[in-house]
Amino acid sequence: MSEVDEKFVIPLKYAGSEPSVWTEYIQMAIDYKPLNLGQGFPDYPPPKYIMDTLAKVSNESDYMLHQYTRGFVSKVLTNPGSSILLLEFDMLNRYSIITIFNLNSIDFLQTFQGHPRLVRALSKLYSKLIGREINEKTEILTTSGAYEALFSTISGHTDVGDEVIIIEPFFDCYEAMVKYAGGVPRFIPLRLKAVSGRIPTSEDWVLDKEELKSLFNKKTKIIILNTPNNPLGKVYSLEELTFIADLCKKWNVLCISDEVYEWLVYKPHKHIRMATLPDMWKRTVTIGSAGKTFSVTGWKVGWAYCPENLMRNIQMVHQNTVYTGVTPIQEAVAIAFETEMDRLGKEDCFFVSLAKDLESKRDYMANVLSEVGMKPTIPDGGYFMLADWSALESKVDVSSESDQYKDYRFTKWMTKKVGLQGIPPTVFYSTPNKHLAENFVRFCFIKKHETLKQAEDILKRWKTTEN
Ligand code: PMP
Ligand code: GLN
Repeated sequence: MSEVDEKFVIPLKYAGSEPSVWTEYIQMAIDYKPLNLGQGFPDYPPPKYIMDTLAKVSNESDYMLHQYTRGFVSKVLTNPGSSILLLEFDMLNRYSIITIFNLNSIDFLQTFQGHPRLVRALSKLYSKLIGREINEKTEILTTSGAYEALFSTISGHTDVGDEVIIIEPFFDCYEAMVKYAGGVPRFIPLRLKAVSGRIPTSEDWVLDKEELKSLFNKKTKIIILNTPNNPLGKVYSLEELTFIADLCKKWNVLCISDEVYEWLVYKPHKHIRMATLPDMWKRTVTIGSAGKTFSVTGWKVGWAYCPENLMRNIQMVHQNTVYTGVTPIQEAVAIAFETEMDRLGKEDCFFVSLAKDLESKRDYMANVLSEVGMKPTIPDGGYFMLADWSALESKVDVSSESDQYKDYRFTKWMTKKVGLQGIPPTVFYSTPNKHLAENFVRFCFIKKHETLKQAEDILKRWKTTEN
C-alpha cells in the first residue's frame, strides 16, 4: 500500500459503509438494461400542474427566487429596557417585527428556517392533520430530501454511546447515520406470522412486544419508526403505535417517525401520525418528502416538524451542513401544496388519486408474482412489495455470482439473465438478521401499466423455460 493510500483510508466512523445497494444496482441497471423494478421512482409523469409549478417559478419576475432562500436568518435588537425585538429579515434585507420578548422570559433566541412559502404551506397542512397549531417559523425545517431530515435529526440527537432502536426491515441509511453519529443501533425484526389459506399482507409482519420491551433501557435515546414502511409496506396500527409510544414515554425516548409514504395507504388502512398520540408531540420528530408526496423523487425536498426545543438540535446540524435548500424547488413544492390543500381528501386530490392508482398496480403485481410461484406480501402502504422466491430456487443458477447473501446472488442473476431488476432485501437488515430476508426480493410497483405487463411477460417466460 502506498503512503498516500495508507493515510487516506476512509475514517474509522465510516468504515464498513460499502458502496450502497443503490449505487451498485443503478449501475447494473445501466450496464444490463433490465426492466427496472429496483430503485423506487415512478416511470410516468406526475400531474402536469406539478411539473408546471417549476416553469411558473422560473418565469416569475421575482428574481430573488433564484437566490439563497431563508436558511437560518434572524437578527436580534436589544432595547435599552428589558425587552428585545426579534426581527426577521427577508432575502432583500427588508425586516418585519416578529416578536417582542421580555428578556427574563427566554433563554434562547429562536432563529427561523426554511423557505417561507413552503414552511407556511407545511404548517397549514400539518396543523390540520395533527390537530395542533404548528409554528411555521420554529417547528418546521425544510431539508434536502427526507435523507437530510433524517441525517440532521439523528445527528442532532445522538451522543456517543446512545442507543437507537431500529425496526427491521429498515430503510438502509438509518443504521449508517446512527453509527456516524457515534450511536449504537439496537435492532428488532418484524416477523411474519404463520398464515394459511391466503396471501400474507404486511399486517402479518409483527413486532414481538416482549422483545421490544427488552430493548429499552436507560441508554436508549431514540427509536426510529417508518410507517408506511419501506420495503414492507407495513402501516402501523393504533395499537402497535400506542405500544411503542408507551415505551417511549416510560423510558423518555425520542421517536423519529419517517412518514415519507404518508399518502400512499390502501383501504381499509389509515395512516396514523405518531405525533398525534397522547403526549407524543413533545417527543416526536416527523419526517416527510416532497419526492414521495408529489411523485417527483428528483426534487429532493424534505422536511421535519417537531417542537421547538427538538428543532433547535436539528437546526444546529442543518446550519453547518446544508444551511438552506434549493429556492425554486421549494417554491414549486409550496405551490403544489397550496393547490392540494384546497381539495384535501376529495376525489380530485392528487394524494387520493395516487393511492387509488397504486392500489390497482399493487394488486396486479401481487397476482403476477403469485401466478409465477413467488409468494408476495401484499403491502398496505408504500410502493414496494416483498416476494419470497424460494419456491423457484430450482430454476435459478446463481453459481456465477459470488455475493455472500443469497438474495444478492438471486437479484444479480435475475438482472443479468432474466432481464428484471429487484432489490435484495438483506440490505434492510442488520448483519445478524440478514438471514431473515435471503429468500425475498423487493419490487417497486409505481410503474406504468405497460411496465408491469412487461414484468409479467418476463416472469412468465422465465417460469416456462426449461432449466
Ligand atoms: N425514508 C424512506 C423510508 C425512503 O424510502 C426514502 C426514499 N429514498 C427516504 C426516506 C428519502 O427520501 P428523499 O428522496 O426525500 O430524500
Ligand atoms: N427510497 C427509494 C428506494 O427505496 C430510493 C432510495 C435511494 O435511491 N437511495 O428505492
